[in-house]
Amino acid sequence: MATTDVPTPDAEALLRQARALQTNAYAPYSGFRVGAVVVTADGQVFEGVNVENASYRLTTCAEQTALAMMATAGVRSPVVAVAVVGDGPEPCTPCGACRQTVAEFGPDATVHAAGSEPDGPVLTTQIAELLPYGFGAERLAAGQRPAADDGAVPGADDAVGRTDRGGA
Ligand SMILES: [Zn+2]
Repeated sequence: MATTDVPTPDAEALLRQARALQTNAYAPYSGFRVGAVVVTADGQVFEGVNVENASYRLTTCAEQTALAMMATAGVRSPVVAVAVVGDGPEPCTPCGACRQTVAEFGPDATVHAAGSEPDGPVLTTQIAELLPYGFGAERLAAGQRPAADDGAVPGADDAVGRTDRGGA
């Protein structure tokens, strides 16, 4: 499935940049620092780190931080490359949520993943390999129903688990 290649100079540079970002990670709870860099088709580069929270579920991943920076800047050029570096010797591949988020902005993106050791292994693959059969805008559009004009929630009548409770 995924391929491990000798990183191209571009990948090396991106991974070096992502690795340098690790020092800015806000990871007081896990101690697992992640840096991410995204590159758009028009050559713009955005950086991100993981940002944890005492309320654990509010943690934001580095990839999502970088993509949010990109969106905030108003950039809509497709993401063509993502580099992710996390602590430890093995390549830090994006979590499931980040795979979905990368696919939103870069369905053809190349993903470079590495660990914090500069000479460690690098995994280079495509987002489509990391997120096979993913859900995207086309699938959403294909299944969308016309908006109801009476304020009813479209599809509510056939929602799973709906029962008639007799006017409660
Ligand atoms: Zn993630």
